[in-house]
Amino acid sequence: MANTVIIDDTTLRDGEQTAGVVFSKREKIEIARMLDSIGVQEIECGIPAMGDEECAGIRALVNLGLNARLITWNRALVPEIEASISCGVQAVDISLSVSDQMILHKLRKDRDAVKEQLKVALGYAKQHDLYVSVGGEDASRADLAFLVELMEITRSLGGDRFRFCDTLGILDPFTMYDRIAFLRKAVPEVEIEVHTHNDLGMATANAIAGIRAGAKFVNTTINGLGERAGNAALEEVIMGLKHACGIETGIDTHRFREMSLFVAKASHRPLSVSKPVVGERVFAHESGLHTDGVIKDPHNYEGFDPAEVGLVRSIIVGKHSGTSGLIERYRSMGITVGKGEAKPMLDRARIMAGRRKRDLSNPELMAIYLGNESIPKAA
Ligand SMILES: [Zn+2]
Repeated sequence: MANTVIIDDTTLRDGEQTAGVVFSKREKIEIARMLDSIGVQEIECGIPAMGDEECAGIRALVNLGLNARLITWNRALVPEIEASISCGVQAVDISLSVSDQMILHKLRKDRDAVKEQLKVALGYAKQHDLYVSVGGEDASRADLAFLVELMEITRSLGGDRFRFCDTLGILDPFTMYDRIAFLRKAVPEVEIEVHTHNDLGMATANAIAGIRAGAKFVNTTINGLGERAGNAALEEVIMGLKHACGIETGIDTHRFREMSLFVAKASHRPLSVSKPVVGERVFAHESGLHTDGVIKDPHNYEGFDPAEVGLVRSIIVGKHSGTSGLIERYRSMGITVGKGEAKPMLDRARIMAGRRKRDLSNPELMAIYLGNESIPKAA
């Protein structure tokens, strides 16, 4: 299907590139297996030019025989592509800096040199029958006419797609939409991939805007792990496409929570309890009005079912609770509390939560039920 979105998850490349993050070979295998099991179509799995250890990790992934296509990240240089071939992958991203900022002030070259470099590297990769994504680093700050030239070269040499990178995470979704729509129209033969960063909190929004504008491929990472503020989060992009845009990706979302916890642990980047889609408390309800509404019908205050992503709803008893939440919480503990007795218990629960500056645990609620709670003095 022409419009199907293809996920290229880069947890194992851009995710691991996060300052201070290292995955063991075992963890890489587990992450790749999980991505494959839920239907992610492509996994960016490392940078062969980094050397023997990285290559051994990539070969281990190749040997798994996953359904997902494995792709490596390379600078657009022949020796790096050679290193990828030696790892046994059949797809490469070949990256070039494409903004004048980077061409002039990082590479200290000019646009012609970049075009020449693309021709040599892409030519080499296609001679070796590789699937090639041409990566435009810093494309969001590049001259659009120059991007069209690079995409024309990509097309003429048989490149398979162009990766539009918002490397610094400086675009907004409206601009992203306009740029991708323009490039799609200018060179319709070359598919586009969007690679977004979260420096301004817009990675997911920009990824979705790119898809809405016609990008077929999107880079994601589990938990949004990635350089600086991170990349577009796999779980957010998939659920955003599904619930905000009505676009089904075919990805099985039920393991998202499990995958997030695994990557949080392996990366030593704890998951925020309010992390969109997978945070422990994104389906926790405390305030009286919301809790009452959710108990009557979850659709009142939940945009989607927590079970879709492997989470469960929780009713929290705290400073803002109402009686129906309190009754429901006791019910979940196997205790029946009537409306009449709930009111004075709620008053005591609120006082305790206020003094402790948090919600209450089951043992604390049990103490309130038994009438033997100890409430700290007011500060
Ligand atoms: Zn990146």
